[in-house]
Amino acid sequence: MVAPPASAHVTDKSAAIMEEAMDLMPGGVNSPVRAFKSVGGGPVVFDHVKGSKAFDVDGNTYVDYIGSWGPAIVGAANEEVNAALHAALDKGTSFGAPNVLENQLAAAVIDAVPSIEMVRFVNSGTEACMSVIRVMRAFTKREKLIKFSGCYHGHADMYLVQAGSGVLTLGLPDSPGVPASSTAPTLVAKYNDLDSVRALFEANPGAIAGVILEPVVGNSGFIPPAPGFLEGLRELVTAQGALLCFDEVMTGFRIAYGGAQTHFNIKPDISCFGKVIGGGLPVGAYGGRRDIMDMVAPAGPVYQAGTLSGNPLAMTAGLKTLEILRRPGAYEQLERVTGRLAQGLIDAAREAGHDACGGHISGMFGFFFAKGPITCFEDVAEQQDFEKFQKYHRGMLEAGVYLAPSAYEAGFVGLEHSEEDVDFTLAAARKLWAALQ
Ligand code: PLP
Repeated sequence: MVAPPASAHVTDKSAAIMEEAMDLMPGGVNSPVRAFKSVGGGPVVFDHVKGSKAFDVDGNTYVDYIGSWGPAIVGAANEEVNAALHAALDKGTSFGAPNVLENQLAAAVIDAVPSIEMVRFVNSGTEACMSVIRVMRAFTKREKLIKFSGCYHGHADMYLVQAGSGVLTLGLPDSPGVPASSTAPTLVAKYNDLDSVRALFEANPGAIAGVILEPVVGNSGFIPPAPGFLEGLRELVTAQGALLCFDEVMTGFRIAYGGAQTHFNIKPDISCFGKVIGGGLPVGAYGGRRDIMDMVAPAGPVYQAGTLSGNPLAMTAGLKTLEILRRPGAYEQLERVTGRLAQGLIDAAREAGHDACGGHISGMFGFFFAKGPITCFEDVAEQQDFEKFQKYHRGMLEAGVYLAPSAYEAGFVGLEHSEEDVDFTLAAARKLWAALQ
């Protein structure tokens, strides 16, 4: 059981470090969501992480349901991963040359995911998604791309088109600095709405290279595909001569060992990975059918490269992580613990009189202060009680539970999360919700 936090949740050291950071880095952080802007109150600064826990610089302990945004599925600072890394370290931190660890991780990914015949490693999910569209365009000799509102595929220019009527209809970028010419070929459909995809294909005959999506959305909160949606999409995309890309950066090796595509038994043409396959080090990957991947240089003409790609430490951490995940019972445990947590949160909120919904698959879960059903980003934006979420987030943090600091994020459970962690979390939530209006 996690030690209950001291009566007051003191964060003086975190505040001092953040004040200094604000002068040194934009917003004091190296990735925007870490600044806790949408929930307020300021972030806590981590000292270290271990298993299912995070420890801040003021000495507070948290049950951590972010897990570095997904990679920590076998528990933070896992001893086996660390031991493998220590051994690899002595052989050199970077080769910039072929090494057998790349073969081993590539073989593990190909073994795990039936749609993957060849893979290319990169250094982040952004890089994987950025590269995959170049390959899809080269393969189909078409330029347009369909994505879904509320799906995140990293921060490359062409994906920064998310939502809002102007953005939807005009293909305007979400961020200054992104040329309209980069996002003009990006068309936006509504998740779980096949008709919206069909309409885009009809309006752009022979021009759409492919469709990219999070097969289970995690970047608008947790939103699973409606029955038949992925199947319908597969059929439609094939009929249109385009390519289907599953962005499994979040869901890969998390929803199931073979990702969402094995869970739902759908074969995309090409897929992106990240997070879990790097075991906590910077790794991304894209892979798929051999005839498509053969387009990539130096086998083919599509240029894509990386100084640190296939880095031996990152490959080592990924390999050990996948080895642990292959052990019998790993996904059953994730399913059991996460299921009790997700349903427990929903039940407790409803018992306290709040509108609540959400869900989980394996070690990925979501919770909304909303009546539901939530089937797409637009539903979240319309239904979620953001004010309540803000109070909930801060209250849980003060009680020793570290949740994603945005109502548009999913939560993650790893193999080190125990039933006691769940008990502790549900007790904190019950106490908070009784007092929350
Ligand atoms: N794709 C998805 C589905 C993601 O969730 C993320 C990051 O959260 C990315 C791509 C981008 O990955 P990275 O942050 O490693 O660049």
